Amino acid sequence: MQVLNNFDLTDYNAYQLKAQCTVAYFPDTENDLIKIFSENTQAKKILLGGGNNIILSKAYYDEQFIIFNNCFNKVEINNTEIIAQAGATTLQINNVALENELTGFEIFYDIPSSIGGAVVMNAGTKVKEIKDILEKVRYIDLQDMQIKELLNKDIGFEYRNSFFQKHRDKVVLKAWFKLKQGNYNTIKKIMENEKNTRWDKQPRNFPNCGSVFKRPKGHYVGQMIEELGLKGFSIGGAKISEKHAGFIINYNNATGKDILDLIGFIQKKVKNVYNVDLEIEQRVI
Ligand SMILES: Cc1cc2nc3c(=O)[nH]c(=O)nc-3n(C[C@H](O)[C@H](O)[C@H](O)COP(=O)(O)OP(=O)(O)OC[C@H]3O[C@@H](n4cnc5c(N)ncnc54)[C@H](O)[C@@H]3O)c2cc1C
Repeated sequence: MQVLNNFDLTDYNAYQLKAQCTVAYFPDTENDLIKIFSENTQAKKILLGGGNNIILSKAYYDEQFIIFNNCFNKVEINNTEIIAQAGATTLQINNVALENELTGFEIFYDIPSSIGGAVVMNAGTKVKEIKDILEKVRYIDLQDMQIKELLNKDIGFEYRNSFFQKHRDKVVLKAWFKLKQGNYNTIKKIMENEKNTRWDKQPRNFPNCGSVFKRPKGHYVGQMIEELGLKGFSIGGAKISEKHAGFIINYNNATGKDILDLIGFIQKKVKNVYNVDLEIEQRVI
């Protein structure tokens, strides 16, 4: 396991906000994780997957970070089932699924994520969410340091929400996905279409963390913000994307505060005009 002191988190959060933490652990095994959580129990610990849905609100963290990025990422295959450790990426699963002509995971091709993060967030699109292909999850319960498993039906999946998001003392270790036999060319085509359609609409030339807000019932976030004339509006280095108003981009050395101030500003405007309370999808750390 790698343990790095005074670690620079800039490349570990998709907004590319500049921040540092006292210690960063990159675990390789379940035993590493048990060790991290059993030792030095007074130190506060923060989990990161790919950092694609987080806002680092501080420039320096006294907390220790446990980062599932480029580690703890083994992927196994058992007939039409793919079993992945929490640090594996959606892209890794897509590649394994494609090589083995398994279908069902294509829509996650362009959602940057670790498997742990995808389960916690119930990542997905209007068409499909992680809950639709997940069988079960293995996790450490930090309450009693026991390793446990939960079946899909017991994970309380909701739109961008799950049991694991409500219980921060559970660490996702592994997930089992049930796919179906498919055809190489068809799978590849769906993946590429998915990517092209999304890149046409989303601001991929600046650091961002995807949609900032959850979709409120009966409204489209991007549409409301656009109607308010806020496309391109900025606070500090954070800007509402000109390409898609539901995205905030780091266009000029933004800080976490810039992003949070811009979010607060949007929430206020939308509440005043539409009487809608926008809920942040991204996790503020
Ligand atoms: C360009 C872009 C497009 C996006 N499009 C979409 C989209 O279409 N749909 C969508 O749903 N999301 C989208 N997102 C958001 C993001 O991709 C997802 O939320 C993703 O699942 C986050 O995974 P992550 O590994 O990066 O998690 P992180 O951002 O690292 O963490 C998210 C939360 O999960 C917790 N966590 C991470 N790993 C674990 C673990 N092993 N155990 C317990 N808790 C853990 C963290 O503490 C944090 O609270 C997009 C992001 C970007 C940058």
